[in-house]
Amino acid sequence: MSDEPIRFLVDDHLRRLARWLRSAGADAAWEASIPDRELYRRSWVEKRTILTMKKSLWAPRMVKIRSFEIAEQFAQVVLECGLDPYERAFTRCVDCNVPTADVPREEVAADVPPKAFARYDQFRRCPACRKVFWRGTHTERTLEFFESATGRPRPERFS
Ligand SMILES: [Zn+2]
Repeated sequence: MSDEPIRFLVDDHLRRLARWLRSAGADAAWEASIPDRELYRRSWVEKRTILTMKKSLWAPRMVKIRSFEIAEQFAQVVLECGLDPYERAFTRCVDCNVPTADVPREEVAADVPPKAFARYDQFRRCPACRKVFWRGTHTERTLEFFESATGRPRPERFS
């Protein structure tokens, strides 16, 4: 086993799962209406693990998602792929699947609501869509989802 983090290729019908995996910092590629042959090709070329509910698919790197319920889907991936939902949490844009980068506070003043700007010191920006992220209510909801879905309490740095 290498230390390279696992990378996913999420089938069309599992978009919400892709977004939660991105919140956990995982590389979770997703595109609408991706044909089965393209799933196979990208999985092979980019060494990505396919996540799908389709019974007809089979590939060497694949996890068949069993539940229709999002928390159970997330828990299955965490368990079967050995993913730590907290290790890289909040380091990737949920829209673009691109790693975000720390950005100096003074550079985000125009992009952040004044209340959030006054309250927080650390901000990250997506290099693709330019969206700015900070620790706010969305962060708390995400951590609560990770906890309730996986039964694993958040580490101290998020308490
Ligand atoms: Zn983005």
